[in-house]
Amino acid sequence: MELFRPDIYQKSIFTIDYKKLKKSGIKCLLFDLDNTLSAMSISLPDAKTKSLIASLTDLGFRVIIVSNSSKKRIEPFKDHLNVDAAARSFKPLKNKYLKIQKIYNLKDTEIAAIGDQLITDIYGANRMGFTSILVNPISNYEFFISKFSQFFERKVYKKLNKMGLLTKGKYYD
Ligand SMILES: [Mg+2]
Repeated sequence: MELFRPDIYQKSIFTIDYKKLKKSGIKCLLFDLDNTLSAMSISLPDAKTKSLIASLTDLGFRVIIVSNSSKKRIEPFKDHLNVDAAARSFKPLKNKYLKIQKIYNLKDTEIAAIGDQLITDIYGANRMGFTSILVNPISNYEFFISKFSQFFERKVYKKLNKMGLLTKGKYYD
């Protein structure tokens, strides 16, 4: 179960202490797209997200969108945020993460992955040895992900909650 527990839990991408991450040696931020950077029904990043990503690049982070969605879905975000992106990543599988590490020459300890789902984003990051950061989903999933994923996500969350490892709304970093 420890592999499903985020290292950091924050309300949204806007409440993360990026300077602290920088100080702890993080060089690269992997952002999930759907419900982390943007609501699933929205096809372009908003101004607030744009300015956040620009400020992170200014701070010296390499920012990469790592999503399980299609290239078509990701492309407008990649272009408007001016960052690199990986589509169809099949998180939590390791392949895409390993590819990114190889391309950008990054150690496990230099990467933080930010996402809204325990079974893809957090489990995926933890098994790689990255710093894992959970944020609340921007909108709910009802119509977008399978009943199976919803069921499994809820189950993992419930178990972590029971073990005292994660409580909704009790943020930490
Ligand atoms: Mg997501």
